[in-house]
Amino acid sequence: MMTRTPRNIGWIEVITGSMFSGKSEELIRRLRRAQIARQKVFIFKPRMDDRYSANDIVSHNQQRIDSIPVSSASDILEQAMDADVVGVDEAQFFDDDIVSVLAELANAGKRVVVAGLDKDFRGEAFGPMPQLMTQAEYVTKSLAICMICGEPANFTQRLTPDEDQIIVGELDIYEARCRGCFKPPVAATVEEKAS
Ligand code: ZN
Repeated sequence: MMTRTPRNIGWIEVITGSMFSGKSEELIRRLRRAQIARQKVFIFKPRMDDRYSANDIVSHNQQRIDSIPVSSASDILEQAMDADVVGVDEAQFFDDDIVSVLAELANAGKRVVVAGLDKDFRGEAFGPMPQLMTQAEYVTKSLAICMICGEPANFTQRLTPDEDQIIVGELDIYEARCRGCFKPPVAATVEEKAS
């Protein structure tokens, strides 16, 4: 009988949202299920993110899973060819090459599960995330809870005046905020810095 189920076809799942929305937790949950099923799971994260541990992905609730820190997206391609399932955390920190790399892995039959922040502290698109969501078969948007008013939170508020897009840090620097409570940094100071 002819099978109607295509074999060896991969896909991309994106888990995105603000900080404190449980993205890493959800990534770990999905990858653990694959490990339990004895699938070969490789997990990557950008080398810069060593806020808790060099070789683990750690969610805020202290779940952890072994991961491989890489300096660039092309390092993932080299190391992931044996995998059934490829996980990537903090995908917003990779450059745009991550999009073609993960597409190539999906085309090669792998399940690719990616977690990353969709917005930076200005409330604007973060790195390659929009392109990854466009490329993905499945997109899960996680919401946090606004730390001011308790409404669903879709924004990450930075509590310091620092203007770099990337500050690796956590609880004392950022808050999850809803649309009403999020205060983007003053545009003038951003323009001053750019000129
Ligand atoms: Zn709020």
